[in-house]
Amino acid sequence: MTATTQESASASTTPAAAATPRILLLGGGYVGLYTALGLKKGLKPGEAEVTVVDPRPYMTYQPFLPEVAAGSIEARHVVVSLRGNLKRQGFEVVTGSVTGVDHASRTATVQPPQGEELTLHYDQLVVGLGSISRVLPIPGLAEVGIGFKTIEEAAAVRDHVLDRLDAAASMPDGPERRRALSFVFVGGGYAGIEALAEVEDLLRSAVDQYTTLQRSDLNIVLVEALNRILPEVGEEMGRWTLQQLRERDIDCRLETFLKACEGGHVVLSDGTEFDADTVVWTAGVKSNPVLANTDLPLDKMGRLRVRADLRVSGDDGIVEGAWGAGDCCAVPDITKDPGTFCAPNAQHAVREAKLLAKNVVAVLRGEAPKDYSHKYAGSVASLGLGKGVATIYGVKVKGFPAWVMHRGYHLLAVPTFNRKFRVLLDWVGQGAFRRDTVALARRSRPREEFVLSAGPTPQPRLAGAAADNGPRP
Ligand SMILES: Cc1cc2nc3c(=O)[nH]c(=O)nc-3n(C[C@H](O)[C@H](O)[C@H](O)COP(=O)(O)OP(=O)(O)OC[C@H]3O[C@@H](n4cnc5c(N)ncnc54)[C@H](O)[C@@H]3O)c2cc1C
Repeated sequence: MTATTQESASASTTPAAAATPRILLLGGGYVGLYTALGLKKGLKPGEAEVTVVDPRPYMTYQPFLPEVAAGSIEARHVVVSLRGNLKRQGFEVVTGSVTGVDHASRTATVQPPQGEELTLHYDQLVVGLGSISRVLPIPGLAEVGIGFKTIEEAAAVRDHVLDRLDAAASMPDGPERRRALSFVFVGGGYAGIEALAEVEDLLRSAVDQYTTLQRSDLNIVLVEALNRILPEVGEEMGRWTLQQLRERDIDCRLETFLKACEGGHVVLSDGTEFDADTVVWTAGVKSNPVLANTDLPLDKMGRLRVRADLRVSGDDGIVEGAWGAGDCCAVPDITKDPGTFCAPNAQHAVREAKLLAKNVVAVLRGEAPKDYSHKYAGSVASLGLGKGVATIYGVKVKGFPAWVMHRGYHLLAVPTFNRKFRVLLDWVGQGAFRRDTVALARRSRPREEFVLSAGPTPQPRLAGAAADNGPRP
């Protein structure tokens, strides 16, 4: 581990000098942003220094990703700038990926986008590294599949599916056309169902603008290993949702696995085989694997072990100075039977983060931290424009009212007034005009036009760069 002194990370690349405690937040997602905002509010000036580390300079409001894929919300409007919202003396944002933590020496190593690894020193560590897609070793999946956890993925899914319609529109009927018009979604949890339903809604309205395509040409398939979907809204609402999706001609296959998708040739466990250009994988998440590169206690599932007060705790008791919350942690759910943990969702992550900030401040002031307790309120999911499903405190809501609840809830929940306002404007714009079905698929190949303009010979070669057409998705 090398300790470099970069101006941007100068506050924490030197060992702690006793006076001002340093709080290091790993991850700038729900937990990172809300903990930092809580600390901004709770700490007196000069009481502590706070550093947030994330490879992205923004927090992503993931519940809006399906609406980004559907084009109902502009991609930039569902991300919240970390620097813009954490501007305060003693607060710092470091753009980089945490590669390891040595809590014994109170250091974390961070790889910035360019240059040498940084070693950051801290007194209090907050781990909010979230989860990653649980990608199974299915032949072809890593090559042709795309996840649905980041803003980049959601925006790329939208561009890609609309690009496939454009491609199919000029093809004669046949296997290539059917392949372009086949869209497979694997995983029937809320992320998968919302993504599937929103994208289907987009495709259906986009298809109407083509003279050579019909709605019946679309082959939209849901693959779910269990015998139910959307467990978050309960069995009855899950069944109702399934029926709604089937009425929309979505081919929902339960108790079915994706066996392979090499070269886009999809093979399902029920024996069905077909070609598809689109395979979206939303079949679960797992704790961030970088945790394995720390000396902090993990459970069998690779999650950080924390107590109800969000302090990290191993077999030998509390690990002083280490805290954790959100998807990457096993947070005991004290509203349920012992041994039960909070589900990985935003509802818990936000509340845990707010308490975590208060608990860190309390401990710095020599006070006792409080336990996290929140009874899960239920879930609300959007199934496309004007369609939704919800179960909130046992009350079941379907169709338009559930969709209004979904939009109302998330508009209130998306952080910052700036983002609430912009999301609202996007929705108003969508209501006032027709749905925007323009895809900017070529933005993943921005140099293509320029390279073509340069002529066939000689191919220009930029110093230190491969002579390609720019970054690919
Ligand atoms: C499509 C979708 C829809 C969802 N809808 C809902 C919903 O309707 N309701 C609900 O309650 N929940 C929903 N969720 C779940 C919810 O978004 C997560 O539970 C929540 O984001 C967890 O917060 P977190 O802070 O633990 O993780 P995240 O918000 O994912 O934050 C983790 C952060 O860590 C950063 N990071 C990762 N690796 C590193 C590294 N090596 N170094 C530094 N930083 C790193 C990431 O960039 C990220 O910013 C949805 C999730 C998805 C994907």
